[in-house]
Amino acid sequence: MSDVSDLGEEAVKHLQALLRIDTTNPPGNETPAAEYLGDFFARAGLPPTLIGETPERKNVVVRLKGDGDKPPLLLTAHLDVVPVEAERWTRPAFAGDIHDGYIWGRGAIDMKHMAAMSAVVLARLKAEGVTPRRDIIFAGVADEEAGCDHGSRWLVDQHPELVRAEFALGELGGFSVRMNGRIIYPIMVAEKGTVWMKLRASGRPGHGSIPRVPSGEREESNAVARIGAAVAKLAATRLPQHRTQVVDRYLREIARTQPFPSSALLPRMHNRAVANFLLRRVPDKGVAAALAAALSNTAVPTMLRAGNKVNVIPGEAEAYVDGRSLPGQTAADLVREIKDVIGHDIAIDVERDMPPVEIDPQSPLWDTIVATLKKHDPEGVPVPYLAPGFTDAKSWSRLGTRCYGFTPLRFPDDGVKFADLFHGHDERIPVEGLKWGTRVLYDIVRAFTCG
Ligand SMILES: [Zn+2]
Repeated sequence: MSDVSDLGEEAVKHLQALLRIDTTNPPGNETPAAEYLGDFFARAGLPPTLIGETPERKNVVVRLKGDGDKPPLLLTAHLDVVPVEAERWTRPAFAGDIHDGYIWGRGAIDMKHMAAMSAVVLARLKAEGVTPRRDIIFAGVADEEAGCDHGSRWLVDQHPELVRAEFALGELGGFSVRMNGRIIYPIMVAEKGTVWMKLRASGRPGHGSIPRVPSGEREESNAVARIGAAVAKLAATRLPQHRTQVVDRYLREIARTQPFPSSALLPRMHNRAVANFLLRRVPDKGVAAALAAALSNTAVPTMLRAGNKVNVIPGEAEAYVDGRSLPGQTAADLVREIKDVIGHDIAIDVERDMPPVEIDPQSPLWDTIVATLKKHDPEGVPVPYLAPGFTDAKSWSRLGTRCYGFTPLRFPDDGVKFADLFHGHDERIPVEGLKWGTRVLYDIVRAFTCG
């Protein structure tokens, strides 16, 4: 293997440049970021394809040709970022400056770092003149944060030949997490389905000056009150648990790293009583919430809409609910569970249904990831896991691609956690951790495609 000790430094430089390009979505405007990467690839002798539904929302795709012995490997990152509340940040969000050992900026870990790492890895392999046994594709895509319509979803629908691959490495996993002194690398092998719903309550319209329930009993005819009662009930309920293979394995493997009694209780969390017991005792509320989300479908009310005049009782009121379904569960299953909570007289329209994604973790790529991680962090334990959110894997998997959420990154033991930075204020990435991740990614891609 060649000397790649300088590769991380290059990734740092390109990540800084990408962070200085504001790709806040909405509106996105990813084209300058795609062009930046496109220019880099062109200089490296890898002619890029810049392509998008609109001139402002281009994607960049590039391919290092292999000998065609095996189907391609896709490296992928979305180039858009979520909005910032600038006044809540302690440093500028689009300056890409380095401070206290971190590169600061929106997109540092979500996920321009993967774009920078993938770009320098591909360019290095090209410079080395290797002919891999499979094509290596990089896709830097628009619009992941708003549902992928201009990015991966559009590429898969309009230009599948550009991005079709057997395996993909992308969001969301591969970062180090500390649990009771042990270092875990969660690697996403499944993600929940996304079911966006509108709940509709109807009632009797009327004048706001005359309540219909003079005695004060429950208001049954006011649509606003009915939708309010429904979302209050929904928000206070944890839906039924469902046992899935991926979560069972995740809990078993985490348990092995943990002291008693967690070691004994974690593998039994498919039992609701055990889960309730344990979830109440997990000291980190964020960890508890993530665990709970892996055990059940979820349905979270996020928007309300009703009425347009203070003195008029409207005939209809709406609530929007963000639903997430476990592998093996459909939108219809989730709707049924919600109706069991809020009753059957509130209508539920499914407005968007993106089914769950799940792969069998076992593969030659998985073995390469595990072996390489062990070399670079002998203490770290890679663990396959289910992500509650959605990623571009929803799109790539429609082409049969087996997607791993793996963008290697090691955090120092300073209390800074991936979970706090992801979509959070003061998003930043450790400089040394990024350099480490770049070397890991290089080794994995090289070993998997050239070994
Ligand atoms: Zn992301």
